Amino acid sequence: MIKEYRNIGLRPLNTFGIEVRCERLVEFEDAADLREIFSCITDCWNVLGGGSNVLLTGDYRGTLLKAAGKNITVLSDDGATVAVRADAGVVWDDFVGWTVERGLWGAENLSHIPGTVGAAPVQNIGAYGVEAKDIIRGVAMYDVQGGTTLTLAAGHCAFGYRDSVFKGELRGRVVILSVDFALSRTPSPRLDYGDLRAETEALGGPSLANIRSAVTAIRRSKLPDPEEVGNAGSFFKNPVVPLAVADRLKAEYPDMPLYPGARDDERKLAAGWLIDRAGWKGRSLGPAGVHARQALVLVNLGGATGGDILALAHRIQADVCELFGVEIEMEVNVW
Ligand code: FAD
Ligand code: NAP
Repeated sequence: MIKEYRNIGLRPLNTFGIEVRCERLVEFEDAADLREIFSCITDCWNVLGGGSNVLLTGDYRGTLLKAAGKNITVLSDDGATVAVRADAGVVWDDFVGWTVERGLWGAENLSHIPGTVGAAPVQNIGAYGVEAKDIIRGVAMYDVQGGTTLTLAAGHCAFGYRDSVFKGELRGRVVILSVDFALSRTPSPRLDYGDLRAETEALGGPSLANIRSAVTAIRRSKLPDPEEVGNAGSFFKNPVVPLAVADRLKAEYPDMPLYPGARDDERKLAAGWLIDRAGWKGRSLGPAGVHARQALVLVNLGGATGGDILALAHRIQADVCELFGVEIEMEVNVW
């Protein structure tokens, strides 16, 4: 069912808590709704999920679409693998909770990530050594120009580090309706990331429920709660640099963390470490700040505009570039 709101305040709908307005916000459930909505859209449009990965820099003069579908359906179960479809409007962490309650492995390390199922493939959400692409089988989407629905198999989604075809070629061309996942009944704990193994052991061992609790507890201890301090998680991506650059930096900064890249001749740097070393951890610029426990997270200290956050982000990018010769790219979508 379509629900429409005019001149609506977006502050409760973005985790940065930025106070802007939207000309028109329309909730949809399925492709038929979208067909009807798009038949009369003449101006700009975009899709808003939980607003946990966007920075709103001004009033939105157009139509924002918001998925309202909340179904989770088992498509098949051969005893080993369970195929599940979740609507775009399902809260991501509710989906993870649903899988854990049913003894299905695959999503547990992605516990407590804010946002919706529909946005998960967009930046291929990841945490604690797992990415959404590891469990996604396909993404059903509405093609705005053709007015048709099609399902893109995971192999065609160009999933990369915090990246996908939905941030590239298909940006502004499709609306994700639902996501299909393949989950396993075979226990497959993935605990080789930071304190996760120790935290899980402390809770009694690697059951699904314990891994979910451990991830949730670690995240709560490190990350600011958007209900208390506006933020959108990691504001920047970790830069991936050629091996030669990583070697040069490691020689100059022996304590700099280096992680493997997707290719042998690349290394991933920790953007949070670079920002910290550039002197920004815990600092602020007006009402925009850098979180004291995780320098990757920019925060709204109260009443910040999107412009305030952006100004801070640009200062940080410039300082990191000057000190290390490395560009850090924004992960958050700036509107
Ligand atoms: P939004 O922020 O509303 O939108 C994000 C993008 O997806 C936009 O471009 C939007 O247009 C697009 N989009 C949304 N829904 C659809 C749809 N149905 N069809 C097409 N496009 C759509 N991210 C991680 O990867 N790992 C983490 O561990 C993590 N931790 C976080 C912790 C905190 C405290 C916060 C605030 C954020 C964190 N994030 C993390 C970022 C964020 O949670 C994810 O990017 C999440 O997937 C965003 O979901 P959303 O529904 O809020 O999307
Ligand atoms: P952390 O564990 O303190 O690690 C800092 C950085 O080092 C992370 O960005 C992480 O990269 C990298 N890293 C650490 N151990 C690694 C390993 N074994 N292999 C590869 N890379 C490693 O980070 P945190 O802030 O507490 O976050 C924990 C997890 O939640 C991370 O996976 C992080 O990506 C995710 N997270 C994401 C967001 C977001 O908005 N995108 C927000 C909060 C947390 P990766 O980021 O590539 O994992």
